[in-house]
Amino acid sequence: MNRKDAYQICSNCVMDTSDPNIKFNEKGVCERCNDYYNHILPMWNKGENKQEELNALVDKIKKAGKGKQFDCLLGLSGGFDSSYMLHFAVKELKLRPLVFHVNAGFNLSIAEENIKKIVDKLGVELKIDVINWNEVRDIQLAFFKSGVPHLDIPQDMAFVSILDRYAVKNNIKYILNGGNISTEVIVNPNAWGYWGTDMMHIKDILKRFGTVEMRTYPFTNVINRKIIMPYLRGVKVVKLLNSIHYVKQDAEKLLIDEYGYIPYEQKHFESLMTKFIEGYWLPKRFDYDVRRPQFSSLILTDQMTREEAVEKLKFPSIPEKEVSILFEQIAQKLEISQEELQQYFTMPLKTYKDYKNQEQIFAFGAKIMKATKLDKLIRK
Ligand SMILES: [Zn+2]
Repeated sequence: MNRKDAYQICSNCVMDTSDPNIKFNEKGVCERCNDYYNHILPMWNKGENKQEELNALVDKIKKAGKGKQFDCLLGLSGGFDSSYMLHFAVKELKLRPLVFHVNAGFNLSIAEENIKKIVDKLGVELKIDVINWNEVRDIQLAFFKSGVPHLDIPQDMAFVSILDRYAVKNNIKYILNGGNISTEVIVNPNAWGYWGTDMMHIKDILKRFGTVEMRTYPFTNVINRKIIMPYLRGVKVVKLLNSIHYVKQDAEKLLIDEYGYIPYEQKHFESLMTKFIEGYWLPKRFDYDVRRPQFSSLILTDQMTREEAVEKLKFPSIPEKEVSILFEQIAQKLEISQEELQQYFTMPLKTYKDYKNQEQIFAFGAKIMKATKLDKLIRK
């Protein structure tokens, strides 16, 4: 039977055959669920009883920052996890992070308000990096033209590159990352995206579809990120939310009550572009619904029932009537006609394989990370 006809959804979470590599056991439970129960949960224990571990780490961070203006670094997108991370670091752990925000030109005003509210109340200084708009527009458009699903790479690349620069320039040894097992243990399937730091791939897409020279765009590469930064410069990325009992609903309530934070309809909806990509482009053009891994993570960590997730997935993340407005906004932002944007939407589906890439090297690296337990999330 053709794989496409054999639709199957995990009987425990809501991952399904929209991930072409999904594997089920005889009970219809997917490999990731089993991975979670057998390997992740026993080690993570929902962040319980990790106070000592957390204290020891926080002490180390403070020690490394002694006598310096900052003891750690935090990138604030305005999204939920990084916002909570900032609150937690400053208010509860009394850390002194250098806080920065990358403005790629796609911020929604609600995100900017959220950022301002939190930063003001905590009394931290915010550094804002604005990326050259001509270049952002051109690289983002190049990715649309290429037909691939990983349209988030330009924004992610800028973020991590600027992050590393701050660490180096200010001699900061610890990077606080809001990433966490509680709400993100099931990440997007590998088949839905691609490695964000494969410069060979990015350069090839830019060579074919770019029209502007990237003079200032912040790029980095995998050697810098995975070898130079951690091993030669000794910069560590720490995910402190894994050491506490982090529950999305409670954390959200705290942000609302304490800062007047306004929650987004969906994870990553703080950026107009990401909202368009994840709420419309990926589910409609590729049948990749990022809510599946997001909800599945919440199901596994007992923060959502499977029934609730199934019910929500019956409706699109962005209501039909909002789609045409969003479509128009994006075309306008990218300075193209709606017809042109529509062309990219209907063009044949492409993958990273249609362009130059170093996939094998990346996959090999990831295997090593997994084997050495440097990566605790479930990636398939
Ligand atoms: Zn599952």
